[in-house]
Amino acid sequence: MSTDASTDLTYCRVLLKLSGEALLGTDREFGIDEQVLRTYAKEVKKAVELGAEIAIVIGGGNIFRGVQNAMKGMTRAHADYMGMLATMINGMALQDALEQVGLQTRLQSSIKMEEIAEPFIRRRAIRHLEKGRVVIFGAGTGNPYFTTDTAAALRGLEIDADVILKGTRVDGVFTADPEKNDDAQRFRAIHGKEVIRRGLKVMDMTAFTLCQESSMSILVFNMGISGNLRRVLKGESVGTRVHWNDSESIAEHADA
Ligand code: UDP
Repeated sequence: MSTDASTDLTYCRVLLKLSGEALLGTDREFGIDEQVLRTYAKEVKKAVELGAEIAIVIGGGNIFRGVQNAMKGMTRAHADYMGMLATMINGMALQDALEQVGLQTRLQSSIKMEEIAEPFIRRRAIRHLEKGRVVIFGAGTGNPYFTTDTAAALRGLEIDADVILKGTRVDGVFTADPEKNDDAQRFRAIHGKEVIRRGLKVMDMTAFTLCQESSMSILVFNMGISGNLRRVLKGESVGTRVHWNDSESIAEHADA
């Protein structure tokens, strides 16, 4: 269900992927920077006020990487379950931050933890979105050997999102690492196959393949810039749109 406001939007229902590492802010090595959380909450609020339906998958790298380093040699699957629990901690923190700015939220978990989150139920998640609630999907896919990028692709497809939004700390996908190379150019749009051919990093291959199979676009943008999420939803030229459309140009630079 779209509200009147949402009819002007390019993307009405989105799956927003936020990395756990972005929650570190600028000077932490692990944990959650409250300022980043508050900023994200305000950005999401602006997006909901536009009439967009927002579902969020959040990573766990800010909590999990530190633990992982301290426990080298742990069985992979066991460590991965710990990683999924880390995403729940972030999900709960984000849920609280969103509610503090006046949004209605639901946290759904891929691993049962009924006291703190609903189980993931696709149709229920869609109903929440239709009612204007922000839905956070925690615990990744619920399976080891996957990432939260894959969870974002999977849940995005399941809720029939218009696009996967990858909110990062950089402005999009570049020809080279912009932090190391002054000549690096941002792509405004690029075909998914060209991303693979150039070996650019957008999402891990499992996530990327899922998107390819369903022609799901991915839009990479800087979540740290105020108003960017709104701009993306309105279809303004922000970040990089990765598409699977053979009739569009293979790669288009931002300044072209
Ligand atoms: N994880 C997993 N299955 C999933 C999602 C996540 O096993 O479906 C584990 C995996 O160990 C991963 C960790 O949780 O390294 C944290 O997720 P991720 O690395 O995707 O977080 P981000 O890098 O986005 O902060």
